[in-house]
Amino acid sequence: MALERTFSIIKPDATRRNLTGAINSYIEKAGLRIVAQKRMLLTRAQAETFYGVHKERPFFGELVDFMISEPIVVQVLEGENAVAKYRDVMGATNPANAAEGTIRKDFALSVGENSAHGSDSQENAAIEIAQFFAGNEIVG
Ligand code: ADP
Ligand code: MG
Repeated sequence: MALERTFSIIKPDATRRNLTGAINSYIEKAGLRIVAQKRMLLTRAQAETFYGVHKERPFFGELVDFMISEPIVVQVLEGENAVAKYRDVMGATNPANAAEGTIRKDFALSVGENSAHGSDSQENAAIEIAQFFAGNEIVG
């Protein structure tokens, strides 16, 4: 089966609580390989572009403020069915609905401060990866 790539963000609520390694361990235990990773502070413009699909939603301003409030860790994850697999490892958007043993169930603080982002399709994964990584920064 072909390897697939997805884009991940360890969000500010998680980096603030020093949970980068803990979340990476959920990723690796699921059989996904971290093939690119960097810690950064998002600019407001980057956050607005990244979440542009949500710009009409009532939580958009709060989401952008949150995403630029502290450092994030952006990642490319590789594995079989990486997009769907990482959505499973993260759990539901709202941690109240997330399954046992998922990142969001175990670490998220709220529906907004929910510790992780993962692409929702292969098409969006390619777009999101290209927003943050040059090809030669990804080493599979
Ligand atoms: P997901 O991250 O699971 O793909 P969405 O794409 O629907 O979820 O939303 C993007 C992000 O916006 C969520 O991860 C969360 O941080 C934030 N968000 C979503 N819904 C809400 C909400 N009702 N209130 C506050 N923040 C929200
Ligand atoms: Mg989404």
